[in-house]
Amino acid sequence: MIDYCIAFKIPLELPGMEKDINLNKIVSQHIEMERFFTGFTLKGGSETVETQDREDIMAVGEKTAELEKITEQVNKCRKCELGSLRTNTVPGEGNPNARIMFVGEAPGADEDAQGRPFIGRAGQLLDKIIVACGLKRSDVFIGNILKCRPPENRDPRADEIICCLPYLQRQIEIIEPEIIIALGAHAAKTLLNTTKSIGQLRGQFHEYYTGIGRPPVKLMPTYHTAYLLRNYSPENRRKVWEDMKKVLAELDLAIPK
Ligand code: URA
Repeated sequence: MIDYCIAFKIPLELPGMEKDINLNKIVSQHIEMERFFTGFTLKGGSETVETQDREDIMAVGEKTAELEKITEQVNKCRKCELGSLRTNTVPGEGNPNARIMFVGEAPGADEDAQGRPFIGRAGQLLDKIIVACGLKRSDVFIGNILKCRPPENRDPRADEIICCLPYLQRQIEIIEPEIIIALGAHAAKTLLNTTKSIGQLRGQFHEYYTGIGRPPVKLMPTYHTAYLLRNYSPENRRKVWEDMKKVLAELDLAIPK
């Protein structure tokens, strides 16, 4: 039987975890990370993202309808073997008019069970980062490269990415975010079509092209929150926060202190 840390809802024995790991250290790291991403306040009240005031080519209602069509296609999709292994598809969710779009790798067990992106431990940390930025989850859109869970959370395979990517590309075209935040190596490498490592890519804006004749969307790669949970260090945490501050500055949003 696996013991759980009730306060942080983490198994005290994770797959692959070193046997001699210091549990006190893990719990104190989680407390520190929790405090870090909850310790920011916005001077002069909370900032809301002006999603409704933007002059968009597509109206919000039209975007919602287009996104719904993609969800229907994803729900029927059997293009790769993941289609027959899933409990639920995880098409993505959020504001159809979002200025920021987060893109992760693929659903995990919690997401597969509920059909919603980033709701497990990595998702809870993402929620904290969003709030630390002075935003709400409902301000942003959250999607993934793959819409179905790979067995045992293995890495997405190239054939699966090729089958699934058009759904995400279309979501990006519809939402027209000002900034895409690629969470982790798989999202960053796929969207930027590069073999560079996430360590090389993160920390600076790149360009994501939606099509010929359309302006590129700014893309900020950063570490995946699951990586941050596995490789906790003040240095990694600081790097993610630095990346987020660059995004906020680019959008002219207040940077919480
Ligand atoms: N990790 C991801 O990359 N996506 C999710 O939806 C959840 C965890």
